[in-house]
Amino acid sequence: MSSADPLDLLDWYDRHAREMPWRTGPRARAAGVRPDPYRVWLSEIMLQQTTVAAVKSYFLAFTERWPTVTALASARDEDVMAAWAGLGYYARARNLLKCARVVAGDYGGQFPQDHATLLTLPGVGRYTAAAVAAIAFDDPQVVVDGNVERVMARLHDEHTPLPQAKPMLTDYAAALTPLARPGDYAQAVMDLGATICTPKRPACGLCPWRAPCAAWAAGTMAELPKKAPKKRKPTRHGIAYLARRVDGAWLLERRPDKGLLGGMLGWPGSDWGDAPAEAPPIRAEWRALGEEARHTFTHFHLRLTVKTALVPMERAPDRGDFIEAPDFSPADLPTVMRKAFDLAQGAWSRQR
Ligand code: SF4
Repeated sequence: MSSADPLDLLDWYDRHAREMPWRTGPRARAAGVRPDPYRVWLSEIMLQQTTVAAVKSYFLAFTERWPTVTALASARDEDVMAAWAGLGYYARARNLLKCARVVAGDYGGQFPQDHATLLTLPGVGRYTAAAVAAIAFDDPQVVVDGNVERVMARLHDEHTPLPQAKPMLTDYAAALTPLARPGDYAQAVMDLGATICTPKRPACGLCPWRAPCAAWAAGTMAELPKKAPKKRKPTRHGIAYLARRVDGAWLLERRPDKGLLGGMLGWPGSDWGDAPAEAPPIRAEWRALGEEARHTFTHFHLRLTVKTALVPMERAPDRGDFIEAPDFSPADLPTVMRKAFDLAQGAWSRQR
């Protein structure tokens, strides 16, 4: 076991904690300010698979519009999905709403405090339950994200590759988690991983845990954590149909709740596979753009052929609905759909 001392890290955190819109910093906590569980939970859901820099503006927009979990619970689904557009992993947004409604309906708008009950909430997995319990309620839960795994692997010079090493790294993290100030401690390890013990070039000279760090002693910091080789992602193909009516309205379709980009607004399209069949949503003279919209999802790359058409006022679509130009905002679309829109816009403006 490492001889790293949580107090050394907390000392460092007291001086160097990052300021973030959802965070109650160490000075405020010491003065008795309690974090708002709603803001802690919202930030943790947004930060899954997404960087702090990308999340900040979304977090500020959400909390301005829906300042409490009860306000979020009574929001319209489509407003929340539109506000989430661009953050990716849209199942998170659907679960966010479900969770807000459970907290508002079953718990009187107060987040439950214990880890086990938090785990029963929609979209709240082990990591998020531990993070909310620790950060919002100072419950000494073991909080392990990618940053923490990296720090633990290095402190212990652990060469077992991820994901196999996960239980071991969690044990290391558990052994270090203090009973005093667990909320500050959880954020301190994350900050250390994000700012000092970074993936490529850790700034060991500035690290409060340099003395007990086994990887630093061995000179192996940059190699850790080891990772099992990733599987190559397959490439899928699809067709997106962007129909614009002569009055400027766009033909859009809300995707089914289940599945990828579920519940999001998008362009009607084909299935995504090896050789997608044509599936135009309206009779028109479709033209394919010379460029594809490309996007990478967790498990595959997508190459989307973008087809455009101008359609007359009276023609009715087989699926989807026309949205009047003033009611349409490309920012409400998920990123892949926005890429298709940007390509079509570019082609149209070149034609003009
Ligand atoms: S000494 Fe270097 S490798 Fe070790 S924990 Fe600190 S920053 Fe990471």
